[in-house]
Parts: sequence; C-alpha cells; structure tokens
Amino acid sequence: MTRRKKIYEGKAKILYEGPEPGTLIQYFKDDTTAFDATKKAVLEGKGVINNRISEYIMTRLTGIGVQNHFIKRMNLREQLIKEVEIIPLEVICRNIAAGSLATRLGIPEGQPLPRSIIEFCLKDDKLHDPLVTEEHITAFNWASTQEIDDMMAITLRINDYLTGLFAGVGITLVDFKVEFGRIYENDFPRTILADEISPDSCRLWDSVTNEKLDKDRFRRDLGN
Ligand code: UDP
Repeated sequence: MTRRKKIYEGKAKILYEGPEPGTLIQYFKDDTTAFDATKKAVLEGKGVINNRISEYIMTRLTGIGVQNHFIKRMNLREQLIKEVEIIPLEVICRNIAAGSLATRLGIPEGQPLPRSIIEFCLKDDKLHDPLVTEEHITAFNWASTQEIDDMMAITLRINDYLTGLFAGVGITLVDFKVEFGRIYENDFPRTILADEISPDSCRLWDSVTNEKLDKDRFRRDLGN
C-alpha cells in the first residue's frame, strides 16, 4: 500500500491511485464511526467483510443492469473501481421508519411507510449531512435535474432488487444509503452508483425477530 499514492482518506475507506488512468483502488478499513464521527472504534475484520459484501451486491447489481464503479476485488481489503466525479449527496431510501426519519417526524420505529421514500442529504459531516431538497441541489449546482431523476430511478431499482435479495435470506431491508458519481463518455456525463453497499450503510433486520443486523449494533452499543 505504501507504494501507492493516496488520493483520499475517508472515515471507513481509503482511495489509492489505480493501475490505469480512470481507475482507483478502494481500501476498506476496520475503522467504524457513527454520529458524524463523534463515536469511533476499530472492529477487527469489518473492512474485510464489507469488501466482500459490497463486491457481492455490486456484482449482482451489474447483473441487472445497474451500472456501478466496481471492477473487481483485488484482495481481502481492496477492490479496483472506476474513478468517478462524486456527486456530493447521500441518497437515502426508506421502506420502514427508523433512525433520523423516525426522530424527525415522530413516526414509531418499525412502522412500514406508505411507500418507499427517497431523501437527499448533503455530504458534509461538519453540517451533520443536512437534508436538502431538489431546490437546494439545483440552485447550488450539486447535481442537475436530470441527475436527480437518474439517482431516484436507480435508487428505487436498487431498493426493489435488494429488498427481494435480502427477503430471500430472511432479512428485511429497512433503509439504505447510496452515493453516485459521474463518468464521462464522449464528454457526456453518466450517473453511476459508487461508494459501497454494506451493513454500514443499510438497516437490516431479521425478518422474524426484528433483531438488528447492521451498524445500529455499534451506534446503540448492542454488542455482538
Ligand atoms: N446512512 C449512512 N451514512 C450516513 C447517514 C446515514 O450510511 O452518513 C445510512 C444509515 O445506515 C441508514 C440510512 O442511511 O441505513 C438512513 O439513516 P438515517 O437518516 O436514519 O440516519 P442515522 O440514524 O444513521 O443518523
């Protein structure tokens, strides 16, 4: 790793220069953070597992035509990805009330939502990733109207697919967060899925017992 140029270090991942132009290496750390990194820990092996889970999900999504940045897994903690221009938004999709939606709107955690809801948050820890509307997104040029439409359509497609995938193994997909980037094809930007999809960015409950199988175990000190 030391031989490579570090491009960016985030809370849970590091990006290194890739072997060819237009590629990067995404390294999964064991570092775990919550509440805008005010709570921190190192969970041994977490990065290895998230690398595998994200590889599996991204590969399955490629299989149903959801373009994403994943190229191949290189080793236990690293994957080769396409370099994208990250859109500075977190796109959240919710099926069941939990977390900040339950708190913000006073809806009991666990209540199914009338339909899947998509929210956009600005990626900015200092501002606590505030919820933003399409008005803010277009006025401040974080993304175009076309990109917003694309992100919503792709996120709903991911939700449909992952809901079924997890249901098949007895897990309920409560909510999840995805991030998107632009890649340029003949000077035209295309919106593709980036980052990771793992239990760090999803709420997953046992379908029978509702036991939490995701990062809420860390956020809420549930152990195990
Ligand atoms: N999420 C995430 N990164 C963030 C914020 C949220 O991956 O910076 C995920 C979170 O794991 C959950 C979903 O997005 O699956 C909705 O999170 P919520 O808005 O309820 O916020 P939280 O309870 O995490 O503060």
